[in-house]
Parts: sequence; C-alpha cells; structure tokens
Amino acid sequence: MHAGVQFEVNRRGFLLIEFSRVNKFFGTFHVLKEIDLTISQGEVVVIVGPSGSGKSTLLRCINRLESITDGELVVNGVKLHERKIDINTFRRDIGMVFQHFNLYPHKKVIDNIILAPMKVLGMSKAEATEKAMTYLQRVGIADKADSYPSQLSGGQQQRVAIARGLTMNPKIMLFDEPTSALDPEMIGEVLDVMRSLAHQGMTMAVVTHEMGFAREAADRIVFMDEGRIIEDAPAAEFFDQPKEERARAFLSRLL
Ligand code: ADP
Ligand code: MG
Repeated sequence: MHAGVQFEVNRRGFLLIEFSRVNKFFGTFHVLKEIDLTISQGEVVVIVGPSGSGKSTLLRCINRLESITDGELVVNGVKLHERKIDINTFRRDIGMVFQHFNLYPHKKVIDNIILAPMKVLGMSKAEATEKAMTYLQRVGIADKADSYPSQLSGGQQQRVAIARGLTMNPKIMLFDEPTSALDPEMIGEVLDVMRSLAHQGMTMAVVTHEMGFAREAADRIVFMDEGRIIEDAPAAEFFDQPKEERARAFLSRLL
C-alpha cells in the first residue's frame, strides 16, 4: 500500500470534536438538547436543518464563542466543559467563516490576512505575507492582494475570508452559511474553494443550504430540528433514504 494512504487512514481515526450529551440554554430557552456528535480528523460534516434549529449555536460552541450548559465537549484535545482553559491558545487551531465576511474595510486584502498571524501567532511580516499569498493563490485571487474589500465582489471577499482563516494553520474549519449572503452567480466559486479544501483533508463542519455541495463534499450529514440531532448519516444515505420523517419533509422543501 502507498505510504501516504496509510498515513491518511491513521489520521482519520482521530477524534477532533466530541460532544457528549451536551445541553445549552439561553436563559430558560433550551437551544441544544442532548447533543452527541463526533467529528474525526479529515472528516467533512454538513449540518442542515430549519432556521432556528440550533445549527449556528452548535457551531459556535465548537470554538467557544458560546459556552455549553452541561454535558462534555472536547475539541482538539481541550475539554471545553472545564472552566480553566486558555481560550486564546485554543482558538488558534480553529478557523471560522461566517455569512458576512467581516473584513476590515480600510485595510488592503493582504493586510486583512496577515494581521492575526502576526499578532496571534507572532509570525514576521515577511512570513505572514508569504503564507497569505500562498492561500490567496489557492483561492484564486492572488491578484487582489493590494485591493480594498470594497473593490471585490462578495464571492471574492468570502474567498479572502477563507484565505485569512487558512493562514492561521487551523486544524478545524467551521463554516456558517458562507454562501447565504452571496449573489447566486458567486456561490459556485466559494463552494469550489470549500470543495478543494475538503479534498485536501481539512476537517470541516459546515452549515449550509447548498445540498449539491453537501451531497458531493460531505462525509456525513447531520440534520437538526428544534435543538436536537434528528439524523446523522453518510451523505448518500441521507439524501437517498432519509430515515426520519422530518428530514424527508425538510429535503422535499429544498429540492
Ligand atoms: P440556526 O442557526 O439553526 O438558525 P441558531 O443557533 O441561530 O439557529 O438559533 C437557535 C435558537 O436560539 C433560535 O430560536 C434563536 O432565536 C435562539 N438564539 C440564538 N442565539 C441566541 C442568544 N444569544 N440569546 C437568546 N436566544 C438565542
Ligand atoms: Mg444560523
């Protein structure tokens, strides 16, 4: 067997994200209910479900933008349910891309990207710039390095946001509806970047309504409704024969 393949197989077994009976409340509102979910290194998991079902909250718990109320959540070896964690060190390994790209409007693309690697990782400007250019190249917009965000299309800005995340060398990338704010003609270019990231073995948790992407790129689909995981299945199985009535109804509304 090819040595690289063996290595990949070994790596894929390693659990990077593990929710065990996690509950979360906002005040008296029970937003996440008894969540059990594991994501292994190199896995791509797409989270789907109706609006308000808790998808964003689940994702935000993974990088501790939200804390959990009870249960256990271990991410990249860090027990997030324990009080004493070094949140800044923890977050370095986790990239997040949101619906809105949150680029600094008064900074050039390149400066948007090198800021965090210099400040947080202590990279030199030269090193950060070299890395940033590598990732800008990879998302297909190296020629925009010296432009300002307002000079870019929405799809290009989102690709900058992805390059910015990757420049931090994350172990996990989280995406919360990264194409929802884009004009239809720009959705494809962002999904292409995400697809290639998936193929390169990045561990990804993605909330999206793009079912074509989900079917092709996801190892598993997690379907949420009213704060619960209703179904967690390999992508082909989920789309071809969803077990749960609520998942079937959800899909029939989308497709
Ligand atoms: P989704 O991403 O699936 O649309 P969310 O995780 O954003 O769902 O929200 C789930 C539920 O939690 C919604 O009813 C939402 O109104 C509520 N919610 C989200 N964030 C907060 C918050 N900070 N405080 C109170 N309620 C919240
Ligand atoms: Mg959401």
